[in-house]
Amino acid sequence: MSNRETQVREAVDRIENQLRTVSQEVFEHPEVKNEEVFASKLLAAELEKAGFAVELGVAGLPTAIRAVHPAISEGPTVAILGEYDALPEIGHACGHNLIASGGLGAALAVGAMKAELPGTLIFLGTPAEEGGGGKVVMIDAGLFEGVDVAMMFHPACNTMVGRGSLAITEVKIAFHGKPSHASASPEMGINALDAVIQTFNGINALRQHIKDGARIHGIISDGGLKPNIVPEYAAAEFYVRAQKNDYRDELLGKLRKCAEGAALATGATMDFSEVGISYKAMKPNKILGELFLKHIVASGMTHNPPKDSAMGSTDMGDVTQVVPGIHPYVQIAEDNVAGHSREFAVASSSERGAVAMLAAAKAMAITTVELLEDADLVAKIWEEFRTA
Ligand SMILES: [Zn+2]
Repeated sequence: MSNRETQVREAVDRIENQLRTVSQEVFEHPEVKNEEVFASKLLAAELEKAGFAVELGVAGLPTAIRAVHPAISEGPTVAILGEYDALPEIGHACGHNLIASGGLGAALAVGAMKAELPGTLIFLGTPAEEGGGGKVVMIDAGLFEGVDVAMMFHPACNTMVGRGSLAITEVKIAFHGKPSHASASPEMGINALDAVIQTFNGINALRQHIKDGARIHGIISDGGLKPNIVPEYAAAEFYVRAQKNDYRDELLGKLRKCAEGAALATGATMDFSEVGISYKAMKPNKILGELFLKHIVASGMTHNPPKDSAMGSTDMGDVTQVVPGIHPYVQIAEDNVAGHSREFAVASSSERGAVAMLAAAKAMAITTVELLEDADLVAKIWEEFRTA
């Protein structure tokens, strides 16, 4: 182990109790997307105490953070990201309290050594990962301009690097029909609910002919008022996901055709709109992933990617499309625990979760130091990014 590496590990060890406390406090104050007032204030205060120039409230997001340790001498710019939003009802069932404290830990450890290091260190607090796309807003506001590399970690049931995420777009399809007495004069009505059901049937027929890994899943958000009124209004919401952004767009076109067909068949009129989230697919950087992997294994975690791993979607996907980045997973629970479950929330405040978070903080901190000290390495990472 190099001197530098030992130095970084010791820097994280010195703040272990502080990081455990931050993780636990964020866990005990679950805040949903864009309402992360407690968490963002807590992180901003810790960063400020450690000498970062902190802005709380950036990109028009009151709970977004940009904290900078400026360059003393010329070198790369590395951004460490932290999420801290919780889920409704089930709290920190995605473990973002660990992402927040792990990202903070890496930033504070590197910040403490910054006098000896070239380049710029940035911590970005990115709110509303769960359905709000804080990172997309921050990209659009220019907060990733000048950033050479972006990284974060995510707790999971396996330790793995290089897993991607699916492009996703949220769609709302609404049908307008004509109400009528469902028994006395059904022939005078136009049934908007039938149009929704026909849309689902069309999509279910489409499923056999879409590429592996793509997903179309939905709910009926409005299905009529009473059985004795022909439904005048009915609507459904879908998530359309695919491994590639272009294919997601192609599927959106096919979904629209299903809805148009249903409108034609029933006589209802149709509104098709993209609402809510739209994230790009992840483009994980291999060179960065290998660096992180080496350091997370040296920090005591076992690399154990599952044979088949289904993917979700995240706004980190968008980040990895504008700058080289990684979103590795670090194990905090056994393989049979589902994300977004009460069991995963328990794991997020467990001793095992804290140990994984500290290991991730070390791995990210060492990776960051290596990048700051090696502009050629950053150039190679960019070459991969441009050609991938
Ligand atoms: Zn998450």
